[in-house]
Amino acid sequence: MTPGILITGGSGLVGTYLKDYVNGIFVSSKDYNLTIESEVIRMYEDYKPEVIIHLAARVGGIIDNINYPFEYLEDNILMNTFLLKYARLYKVKKFLGILSSCIYPDYSDTYPLKESYLHKDLPNENNFGYGYAKRLLGVHIDIAKKQGLNYSYIIPSNLYGEFESGDLSRKHFVGALLDKIITANKNGDSSITLFGDGSPLRQFTYAKDLAEIIELIIKYDIKENLNVSCNNNMSIDQMARLALKATNSEHLSIIYDESKPNGQYRKDIDTTNFKNIFPSFEFTDYIMGISKVYNKIKSRYE
Ligand code: NAP
Repeated sequence: MTPGILITGGSGLVGTYLKDYVNGIFVSSKDYNLTIESEVIRMYEDYKPEVIIHLAARVGGIIDNINYPFEYLEDNILMNTFLLKYARLYKVKKFLGILSSCIYPDYSDTYPLKESYLHKDLPNENNFGYGYAKRLLGVHIDIAKKQGLNYSYIIPSNLYGEFESGDLSRKHFVGALLDKIITANKNGDSSITLFGDGSPLRQFTYAKDLAEIIELIIKYDIKENLNVSCNNNMSIDQMARLALKATNSEHLSIIYDESKPNGQYRKDIDTTNFKNIFPSFEFTDYIMGISKVYNKIKSRYE
């Protein structure tokens, strides 16, 4: 096999879009369980990659994170540690890790959150395990960089797209929202129920845009750690109402289940560094992205 670019997490939301942008080897948990050291060694032996785009992670929505914090911490720490340990031993020339805006401090004196704020305070308690595992991925990469390696990471905001996991409990807000809209329409319901009170602010980026950005980072060998997001920062309620409009479902009313957690109140990220490097990159507008995803996925429910 020709040495080249290896992408972990190749079957996931971002990985599936990335196949249109990067010519490389895409692996999933079916090929290698990256929480097991011998499997990681086998992967490096099989491909001897020059570049790694490390997308693989245990990823999920708020309830799954609350129910399985041990697994979120352990799986992600193991995967990230083994990936980096053997990247160095196998002399990988470039390594790109993916963090997340969810891992920033739960509260900050100033917003939007800059890359330098990552370790200023504790992550939100609802994703503490995921948050600390991902923060450690960042620390590990920064230390590698200090030792002269071309390793870096990006910190995307929440993502949506048509390839999100089919399991509702593992979906992020927009994926779960579309699921609820389609199901309500199919069943002839008059409302959808959302967690919390609708007030938290969120930035959601179309995962296809992130895939395009990852391609550019590899192509131009960008070495900086970068926040990556479109600039919208809307309340859950605003996002839900726009989604109802974009899917011609304004007949559905929204019920808020306040017995369920809101999650972090806000986590909007500062993208000045990203814009300095990619000044002309245009993100997909939220309504446009939602309609595209809705039209692609609704037939799956028939
Ligand atoms: P995803 O759809 O949940 O996909 C996860 C990928 O990781 C899948 O390919 C999965 O393989 C693989 N994986 C999970 N456990 C594994 C294991 N033990 N061994 C090997 N592979 C394993 O994730 P995504 O949404 O594309 O996220 C990609 C990256 O972006 C992640 O690092 C995530 O933390 C980050 N991120 C995501 C969001 C978001 O809103 N989704 C936001 C910010 C950052 P299988 O399909 O075989 O299970």
